[in-house]
Amino acid sequence: MSETYDWIVVGNGVTGASVSYELAKNGQTVLLIERHHPLQGATRYSYGGVAYWSATTPLTFQLCQDSHALYPKLGEELGHDIGFSEIDLLLTVSPDQDPETASQKYLNCLNPPQPLSTQEACELEPLLNPDAISGALTVKHGQVDPEAMVAAYNQAFQSIGGKIQIATVTGLERAGDRITGVTTDQGGYGADKVLLSTGGLTRSLLEKEGIAIRQYFTHAELIETPILDDVRLRTLIMPADTQRFDLEAEAGNPELDSHWDEMGREIVPPILDVGVVQLPDGRLRIGQVSRALTDPHATIDAAQSEMEMRQGIEHIVPALRNVPGQWHHCLVAFSGDRLPLIGPFSQSEGLWIFSGFSNPFAILPPLARRFAAHVTGGEDDIIPTLAPDRPGLTAWQ
Ligand SMILES: Cc1cc2nc3c(=O)[nH]c(=O)nc-3n(C[C@H](O)[C@H](O)[C@H](O)COP(=O)(O)OP(=O)(O)OC[C@H]3O[C@@H](n4cnc5c(N)ncnc54)[C@H](O)[C@@H]3O)c2cc1C
Repeated sequence: MSETYDWIVVGNGVTGASVSYELAKNGQTVLLIERHHPLQGATRYSYGGVAYWSATTPLTFQLCQDSHALYPKLGEELGHDIGFSEIDLLLTVSPDQDPETASQKYLNCLNPPQPLSTQEACELEPLLNPDAISGALTVKHGQVDPEAMVAAYNQAFQSIGGKIQIATVTGLERAGDRITGVTTDQGGYGADKVLLSTGGLTRSLLEKEGIAIRQYFTHAELIETPILDDVRLRTLIMPADTQRFDLEAEAGNPELDSHWDEMGREIVPPILDVGVVQLPDGRLRIGQVSRALTDPHATIDAAQSEMEMRQGIEHIVPALRNVPGQWHHCLVAFSGDRLPLIGPFSQSEGLWIFSGFSNPFAILPPLARRFAAHVTGGEDDIIPTLAPDRPGLTAWQ
């Protein structure tokens, strides 16, 4: 091993990219290790929606309010465009429901989406099929270009001395119970602290080390189109009755935890949330199927999924019939209680986690900022509250 860093951050999705930058900004020497260039994880295929309206607890209220203030300035601070804008989110209501009833589900949100008639929904999004809905809900939603956001964080990180290494972390270096670095396919790297931001692969990485964590993942599938000049969506479209979070809540039930250690299981049936987003450059991401399969490398019937996603979106937005596009797949991490897993591990000194987000864009930039300030000596009222009572993690001051 050559140089020893204050921190090694593993994983360069939006989580690792933001936290590595914030640590470096607080004067830490940081090595960020990512196995893929270009990226292939959840961030690469995300819609990049910033649901800062969706907070439901005092903790998420605070973080979403921080995000609302931070996002418009973030690109300027990082010195690169992150593709941020505020758009109308359109949550479609199926004909067997009515918008008033559908809106009840969101009443305790910081800024609850408002019901619209079919006509109002179609005025907001002229490409909608009025016969496919009974109306919609709408709220102002942030949107970023997820790949641009990672690139912006990375460039700002490197400009203040952060280093990036493309390598696959294969294990942890130890001296007794203390973690002293990582092994990779490119050699070993030493650090005072190793922080895992490895998304859906965190559980299997830790399993190899004999460390248990209640973090799970879905296999997410979507279709990405090339840049389409002849289609212009005005809104980000999702179903009002989103199934993904229900699937995560069910599959993350602590009683099912041991099932996740059995390869080849499907914890709960798959879901399809019919939605579409247009990125600032004109590409569409159409989705999304989520599956709770315990094997991160499980084989999936791509043709069948693609057909179901296409049928779903063509019904809601007929203009998208036969758009060119390619099926993609990635893993999306979640924690079971919708809160991030942040903190040091109790059994392995020097090993930390900053992961487990299912809807991270709404809270991540301020959370990464608070985390880095706190671990470098600042006070924070939120960060220390996130570790206690989470199996495997320990409280810290
Ligand atoms: C279709 C879709 C739409 C979504 N829409 C939204 C949305 O609108 N809003 C929102 O907030 N969220 C959304 N999400 C979820 C969100 O995108 C993810 O939760 C988020 O991107 C996860 O970021 P991450 O950095 O934790 O994980 P990832 O982006 O998966 O990054 C983890 C990284 O770790 C690397 N890694 C793993 N193991 C190793 C190793 N051993 N060595 C080196 N590197 C390793 C991986 O290569 C990967 O790049 C969506 C997800 C999908 C799939």
